Amino acid sequence: MHMTPEEFRENGYAVIDWIADYMEQVEQYPVLSRVEPGEIASMIPDAAPETSDGFASMLSDLDDVVMPGITHWQSPNWFSYFPGNASGPSILGDLAASGLGVQGMLWSTSPSATEIEMKVLDWLVDLMGLPESWKSDGRGGGVIQMSASDATHAALVVARHRRSGEASTSDMVVYASNQAHSSIEKGCTVAGIGHCRAIDVDGAYAMDPNALRAAIEGDIDAGLLPIAVVSSVGTTATTAVDPIGVVADIAGEHELWHHVDAAYAGTAMLCEEFRVHQPDLDGVDSYTFNPHKWMMVNFDCNVLWVADREPLIDTLSILPPYLRNSASDSGEVIDFRDWHVPLGRRFRSLKLWWVIRYFGAAGLRAMVRDHVGMADVFASWVEQDDRFELFAPHPFGLVCFTHVDGNEATTKLASALNATGKVAVTPSQIGDTAFIRVVVGQTHTSERHVEALWDLIDQLA
Ligand SMILES: *Cc1c(COP(=O)(O)O)cnc(C)c1O
Repeated sequence: MHMTPEEFRENGYAVIDWIADYMEQVEQYPVLSRVEPGEIASMIPDAAPETSDGFASMLSDLDDVVMPGITHWQSPNWFSYFPGNASGPSILGDLAASGLGVQGMLWSTSPSATEIEMKVLDWLVDLMGLPESWKSDGRGGGVIQMSASDATHAALVVARHRRSGEASTSDMVVYASNQAHSSIEKGCTVAGIGHCRAIDVDGAYAMDPNALRAAIEGDIDAGLLPIAVVSSVGTTATTAVDPIGVVADIAGEHELWHHVDAAYAGTAMLCEEFRVHQPDLDGVDSYTFNPHKWMMVNFDCNVLWVADREPLIDTLSILPPYLRNSASDSGEVIDFRDWHVPLGRRFRSLKLWWVIRYFGAAGLRAMVRDHVGMADVFASWVEQDDRFELFAPHPFGLVCFTHVDGNEATTKLASALNATGKVAVTPSQIGDTAFIRVVVGQTHTSERHVEALWDLIDQLA
């Protein structure tokens, strides 16, 4: 019944070959899957097999059943959403972690899983120019979670917990700009926080601090309790950047927890020139970004840092007798189970560690600069063409633009581009204006891909 190590070796080589073939061929597939709803499910038997299907048949179904329903995030012609990049060292790191099959809930359940995670997240503090005190030997610390949504939910639960004596949760208020990610509102729902206020933005879609101040004061007058504010560094729609320093001052005046969501743009902070967008992190309480977007680390891998780990652990630590052990009791180790909602955790730091070691900090910075450079060139083409207008500033790798003939022309262009199968872009809308999002950020996107995209836009506009 078991797959012997020898069988594993043989099947494993076949899978690695299959993945390597996919890497070679990914550009040839239509970027967006073309199946109809139910088409993939209809190829799978209604009942599970009673006896083994055999590995050969499972592998061939990768081509026959799975591939038609794949959307090719790893295509260099992927300009949609944000990237969700894979890379060789990350895939292999994930595989090695799967091979070890450890569950790293406590330090003692695999010291390597905890200590490598601490060390690598400390490296990232330096690499991204974050406050020194966020390192594990300071007051703060970082933890890997599944997603930015989880990290934000956790931060909001901490924000709620530390004010729990002052008001009922239904009277608590969290603030974020009206461009903030939906995970903020969802986090408030999960945490049972009564109110989530969407604050007005300025012409560049960044939070208007005066509107924030007014909202807070209005809520206090109404007898509510403001508990947290979330700043975005790189909103999902347009990569707008909230004025973190001013928001931090307001948060300080009102004792709000200040969480920063840099899910996509955090990766840019590997390069010093982008740190102008987050100049005042000293007043920030928590910060999250997704290596699983732009940093070539396979989904899933999110990082949350807190400036002070005490409130986080105080909120989430529960100690049943069966989890007690001498290492934890000694207080000398970190048990990451106390840093997030789940108990169990995968050894995700291995792939993150391998990605940083394989590419080196210089390699990662070069990737960011390369992508942003191509996005800047693309934006200059948009600007120079009378048929198009830039819709928003483009501080990172996302360029948003409209067709001057209006919403219908813009939406039609996006649909026509996606229908070619040669590229994927994202149609979006803010207020009454439709626009197209083009993100240059896929690991293998090079100038020829961006030029080919522009040629298509030129033909189809
Ligand atoms: C992508 C994104 C998220 C959500 O990320 P998940 O890891 O999928 O939860 C949150 N905030 C911003 C700004 C994002 O761009």
